[in-house]
Amino acid sequence: MVERYGNLIDDEWVTTDSLNININPSDTNDIIGEYARASEADVHAAVAAARQAFRAWSHTAPLVRHDILARASAEVAQRADELGRLLSREEGKTLVEGVGEAKRAAQVLAFMAGEALRIGGERIAGLQEGSDAEVTREPLGVIGVITPWNFPIAIPSWKIGAALAYGNCVVFKPAELVPGSAWELVSILRRAGLPPGVLNLVMGSGRLVGGVLTAHKEVDAISFTGSVPTGRGIAAASVAGPAMKRLQLEMGGKNPLVVLDDADLDLAVECAVNGAFYSAGQRCTASSRLIVTDGIHDRFVQAVVARLEALRIGHALDADNQIGPVVDQSQLDTDLEYLEIGVRENAVLRWGGKRLERPTPGFYLQPALFTDVQPDMRIAREEIFGPIASVLRVSGYEEALAVANDTEFGLSSGICTSSLKYATHFKRHSEAGIVKVNQGTSGLDFHLPFGGRKASSYGPREQGRYSAEFYTIVKTAYTSAGMV
Ligand code: ADP
Repeated sequence: MVERYGNLIDDEWVTTDSLNININPSDTNDIIGEYARASEADVHAAVAAARQAFRAWSHTAPLVRHDILARASAEVAQRADELGRLLSREEGKTLVEGVGEAKRAAQVLAFMAGEALRIGGERIAGLQEGSDAEVTREPLGVIGVITPWNFPIAIPSWKIGAALAYGNCVVFKPAELVPGSAWELVSILRRAGLPPGVLNLVMGSGRLVGGVLTAHKEVDAISFTGSVPTGRGIAAASVAGPAMKRLQLEMGGKNPLVVLDDADLDLAVECAVNGAFYSAGQRCTASSRLIVTDGIHDRFVQAVVARLEALRIGHALDADNQIGPVVDQSQLDTDLEYLEIGVRENAVLRWGGKRLERPTPGFYLQPALFTDVQPDMRIAREEIFGPIASVLRVSGYEEALAVANDTEFGLSSGICTSSLKYATHFKRHSEAGIVKVNQGTSGLDFHLPFGGRKASSYGPREQGRYSAEFYTIVKTAYTSAGMV
């Protein structure tokens, strides 16, 4: 018997006739559950409930918000193995990655619980004699949270956790491929004591549910993570409507990892293999462009291939495997198409790229490494979002930097070098929101700001204390004593 899961609207679990069947990409015969698809009316009801709840919630004592988030964090931490397993089952990342992500979600919620208490302001003397001014941060209102499938519990936790910590209400629309983790997170937060209407869940189609949220005049802001075209569409719709919304858009990447001649080879290979291929390359911070100088190029490629040959690819829930399937048929088709494009462009498919058969039917693909890639090839410019990386050979640091920055994206970048001079110069001149020296381009701390430049991001940063920039609105208040 397949379980059915409803949307949460004004504290009621609401089911519908229209159901989304959640399947396991490691085994398409394995059905995880059936999840309600919200209708347009459901979204309106959720927004109305959030608007109504905002009046009281925005004035709750900080300790109340802290305690709810801390309780939710504790439950996520305590159930991390189970939640991680569910996540891996519906998304296809390995069990280690799934459980790691669930633990990360617990840490994020704990950090955000603290934010409810830490939020402060400034007191500045006014220009008039006897006038004091205070600059404070207040909750923004109703936030539409729209999330992608690749981090099914971490991304919702850092968006929803921040929104709630600062006193906002939320209407949450998760990606259709991963409703299970979203449903669990919402039910945990509800159980932790959120008042009715403060957090609402509307699962379903991006175009319909996301579209209604984006255009809704009672929604004050949208925090979105997903693809560039969808982000651009949301930006256009949000400002075209009756209420121009505050926006936070985290989109794609085509992240460079530069490897210089003086790099520690083992470290560089580790950064590249992990950054490019783990999580099947399905991270917006994946190192999809490996920019390697002449002197180390051949040794580097050889060592990466040796690692790829030894990688175990298979069912995500089998603890022996290091890489699971890609997320669905559509992503697999995209990956296979880019493999053909790369070959047509005369890049050399140095290793991998074969469709793999496993005992269970799933979307298994061998990681692929292209060499002899030129900066103007499509495989070097477009985000693929699969386990496919391109090696671009360069003559030295200056060319490496120029190639690294020659992209419409600017999320993360990395350099492997033992030279302080090049490391320092790269940190300053890399056109990315996040720069790593001797570390992979993905893997980020939850207490530090996250976000990119150029086509990768729009709006204030996410995570850590910088979350307040997006989820609060500044007030300037003047006071005079009225007597001398
Ligand atoms: P991905 O390829 O990572 O799924 P998308 O940008 O397609 O990236 O999806 C990210 C999120 O945006 C998902 O929750 C999706 O349902 C939602 N979405 C898709 N289309 C729209 C839209 N037109 N308006 C608002 N949200 C959308």
